[in-house]
Amino acid sequence: MSRRPAERIAVTRARRRSFQRRLLAWYRRHHRDLPWRRTRNPYHILVSEVMLQQTQVPRVIPKYREWLRRYPSIEALARAGAREVREAWYPLGYNARPIRLRAIAREALRRYRGRLPRTRGELLALPGIGPYTAGAMLSFAFRQDAPILDTNVRRVLRRVFAGDRARPSERALWALAADVLPRGQAYDFNQGLMDLGATVCTSRRPRCGRCPVATACASFPLAEAAP
Ligand code: SF4
Repeated sequence: MSRRPAERIAVTRARRRSFQRRLLAWYRRHHRDLPWRRTRNPYHILVSEVMLQQTQVPRVIPKYREWLRRYPSIEALARAGAREVREAWYPLGYNARPIRLRAIAREALRRYRGRLPRTRGELLALPGIGPYTAGAMLSFAFRQDAPILDTNVRRVLRRVFAGDRARPSERALWALAADVLPRGQAYDFNQGLMDLGATVCTSRRPRCGRCPVATACASFPLAEAAP
């Protein structure tokens, strides 16, 4: 008989605060220096988010820079041809992504005079923008207190607050991502969750022995520290 995924993950105030404090302190000291973390331009952040959807960071960095030299603004991208943007995207693969990005640029030009909207509803109405990208835009580009949930964040939150063997529902994880978000610090907190999932709490080889949130983690010790 299959068990139904948990609909709610309860978190005590003390655990939430401990996790927030430790993650933020770690992120401020050890965050990765990535080009899209040096800008507040919403279009540049959107480009990085779309590129990162199916491509690893080291491959995205040179293409991100090249793309912005070629299409420095929403207007420039909206005016480009479909074939041209596909070629410009090469060799990232998944050719639907540049077409979606161009469709967003055209829609933003048509409806918002070339600006990207600042509400979840308006972002979700743009072509190809789902809940994760909407949350990323709200917290990274517009510095709003919005949760995010991608593969890395999902894994970290599940392990820390529910245990590695738990299978909480997507709804429960979104509620948890919102519940643990510290007010006014969504940018650093969400980026920290992503960095932790990418570099410490990895899928196959979590480095529990070097983890900054180990004392707040329900799964600790999940594995031996990496050599
Ligand atoms: S202690 Fe281990 S399982 Fe828990 S968050 Fe850290 S790396 Fe992940």
